[in-house]
Amino acid sequence: MDVLDRDSWRVTTPLRTLLDLASDSTTLLDSTRLRPHRPLLSGLYAVPRSPDSRDSPQVLSAPVSARHLSPNDPAFAGLPTADHEWTSDDWQQLLHWLIESGILTYKDVTALVLGHLNPPQVGTSIASKKTFQAHFPPRKTWQAVRGWFYQQRGMCEDCGARLELQADHVETRQDYGDQADRLDNMLLRCRRCNVVRRPSHTQGGLTFLTAEAALMWILLIKRPRTYQEFEGMCRDYGMTMANIRFQEAWAMAHWLEEDGSYTIDPSSSL
Ligand SMILES: [Zn+2]
Repeated sequence: MDVLDRDSWRVTTPLRTLLDLASDSTTLLDSTRLRPHRPLLSGLYAVPRSPDSRDSPQVLSAPVSARHLSPNDPAFAGLPTADHEWTSDDWQQLLHWLIESGILTYKDVTALVLGHLNPPQVGTSIASKKTFQAHFPPRKTWQAVRGWFYQQRGMCEDCGARLELQADHVETRQDYGDQADRLDNMLLRCRRCNVVRRPSHTQGGLTFLTAEAALMWILLIKRPRTYQEFEGMCRDYGMTMANIRFQEAWAMAHWLEEDGSYTIDPSSSL
């Protein structure tokens, strides 16, 4: 039997199986996007994992989809409260939840990832700079940059990620000025590691995520009930951006509330 851990709502069933089960539902099959409110996983039930029920699982009556979308969704309550402590399984669970709840499709996620896997304008932006061009004969800069680019390992020097690669200086421009703009002084880092290294980004190490991703992570995982709470959580997480960015991100709470998958307390200022 497919089970869910009632305490953490961890999905212990492979999503493929869930979707196979869901395909039995005549109300589901919107092939482009799984919407909330539909009995997406009806027929699949949660089983509590308390000691006295472990031997004889009690089948609950509510469909999983309704539970996933409950206003006080405790789906991630049992997980570490800092994203940098999350395991691969935790991230997988979040991804599954985003898709099961109808917020995203596999196509959305995959297309986005593919776009960020492509390293556009990493080499060409170097080749377009006069400080680099000064080292090469006219119209030979791209050829040299391309050679350097192909020789790289294609992953972040610091964390090994292949996504969102950027060219970064070993000797910084801040210290060395135009002298730093040499191919033998360049390496590839992902956008996050690049940002974290900047002196202005002293809080960058607190989260694995970029700021815009951390805003959504806090909203979906910590589930603040008011805007004030959300802003406080973001500040506690070390985010130093202007409040207007938090207010913008808070739109997601309003949009999800429309879908019945988020609850904003009436005392919220926004
Ligand atoms: Zn990195």
